[in-house]
Amino acid sequence: MPAPASIDALTALTEWWEEMGVEVDEASMTAYLKAAEHDLAAAAPASATTGRRPKRHEIDWVEAAKAAAAGCDSVEALKAAVEAFDGSPLKPASENTVVYDGVPGASLMVIGEGPGAEEDRRGLPFVGKAGQLLDKMLEAIGRSRTDNAFISNVNYWRPPGNRNPEEEELAVCRPFVDRLVELAKPKLIIAAGGVPAKALLETTDGIMRLRGTEHVFTTAGGYSVPLIPILHPAYLLRRPQDKSRAWRDLLLVEQRLGELE
Ligand code: URA
Repeated sequence: MPAPASIDALTALTEWWEEMGVEVDEASMTAYLKAAEHDLAAAAPASATTGRRPKRHEIDWVEAAKAAAAGCDSVEALKAAVEAFDGSPLKPASENTVVYDGVPGASLMVIGEGPGAEEDRRGLPFVGKAGQLLDKMLEAIGRSRTDNAFISNVNYWRPPGNRNPEEEELAVCRPFVDRLVELAKPKLIIAAGGVPAKALLETTDGIMRLRGTEHVFTTAGGYSVPLIPILHPAYLLRRPQDKSRAWRDLLLVEQRLGELE
């Protein structure tokens, strides 16, 4: 029998699924059992007036993320806060929360789209086929996650079927992304692919328009870092003929790091 707090979580979760037009089938129940481990309802305090815990859809998860992120004063604390956060609709069906890898404080920070199957399984960003290509791309400009690069994503949980993360899924991660940048203090950010480039630069322009030049990423707290968008390594695996474009962008990254370091 689930504990009462988990019954609340089940109620909130199934109500939310119904609102989203999702039928509650066996797979969803399995997802619930994972969600119950995280105790969704316990994430929010009971109301002082009613004594009732708010249901999932009554919680402003972006505000909850802002409060949790603001309370972090190290990248390790930020990672723990993201792992404890239950505001992403993607979390219940994910195996792992994928926050970062590499060297916090490195001059170069790579921000990708979010975990795929391999990343979800291992709990680390960019460790599948695309990640292996990213490692080679970084190596070509003298960078690696073991020595001098820090790697994260704009979304910390795997979307089903590796679809792009949706607006709400990105919005609840964003306060953590901003705070991670403020804490890691990179001198330059690579946005790997259109999803992080558009999300970080708050633009609808596509990656082909954004790549090839330097932009500025500014966190909600007003902290600014130069940002260079590049083609996503998964895209380059599908379209190797575009590798020369990626190479030009990497040379720009190398040149700017030389100036900024
Ligand atoms: N693609 C991404 O954008 N990020 C990952 O972590 C893995 C693949």
